[in-house]
Amino acid sequence: MLFDTHMHADYSCDSHMTIAQAIAAAKKAGVGMILTEHWDRDYPTNPEMFKFDIDDYFAKDGKYRSERVFLGIEVGMQPHCVEEDTGMVGKYPFDEVVGAMHCMYGKDIYEPTTYTGLTKEVAVRKYLEESVRCLELYHDFDSYAHLDYICRYMPYEDNNLYYAENAELWDRVFKLLIDGNKALEINTRRLEDASVRPPLLKLYSRFRELGGKYATLGSDAHYTQHIGRAFNVAEEMANQCGLHIVHFEKRRMIVDK
Ligand SMILES: [Zn+2]
Ligand SMILES: [Zn+2]
Repeated sequence: MLFDTHMHADYSCDSHMTIAQAIAAAKKAGVGMILTEHWDRDYPTNPEMFKFDIDDYFAKDGKYRSERVFLGIEVGMQPHCVEEDTGMVGKYPFDEVVGAMHCMYGKDIYEPTTYTGLTKEVAVRKYLEESVRCLELYHDFDSYAHLDYICRYMPYEDNNLYYAENAELWDRVFKLLIDGNKALEINTRRLEDASVRPPLLKLYSRFRELGGKYATLGSDAHYTQHIGRAFNVAEEMANQCGLHIVHFEKRRMIVDK
């Protein structure tokens, strides 16, 4: 069974489903699931927006755990939050910790104003430089979320990321992940659009070329209908790159395929 290793429910303020609804949808989609509620300390637009009561999370959602339902967290990385977040992660029995870039240089990647006055070239370079900075500092996670996150929001005509335009920075990102034995998430949110697949495939293949072995599949679902979205495409991409598909239980990597 494949696992959807990235989704949000009751403890993420931007989600539109409950854990019970997510479990039913995952079952219907024929996938296992890892819930990864948002944890972004000191979020620029609202410092408390993407945090939650983790004790309450385990108390309430713990009863749903099974061989196909696991509880994780998505940690938004920022250099000044690393120390506190490492402490937080170590205190709780997460199955999977997803490391994610949602901010760069204290600005929200989601916000249009973040790109004011920036060419795409500069915006992407800043995104990658900040990714390197975070990955050098923060190590307590299992998989690296949506490396194409910025593609969802940056306001340029061609929103794809091209390996060749920043080869050195991409290699630094991938080497840091490989040295830390992290899995690379194949995020499926954009994959229904076939035109985005070739540049992403190039990036995932480069991760493999440098010695990366493992990929997770993650929909980043906030709605039930997105759980397991485009998993056939993602699975095919993993196969094409020679990456093994994995998920995590009690922070241990389980190879699915
Ligand atoms: Zn995210
Ligand atoms: Zn997410």
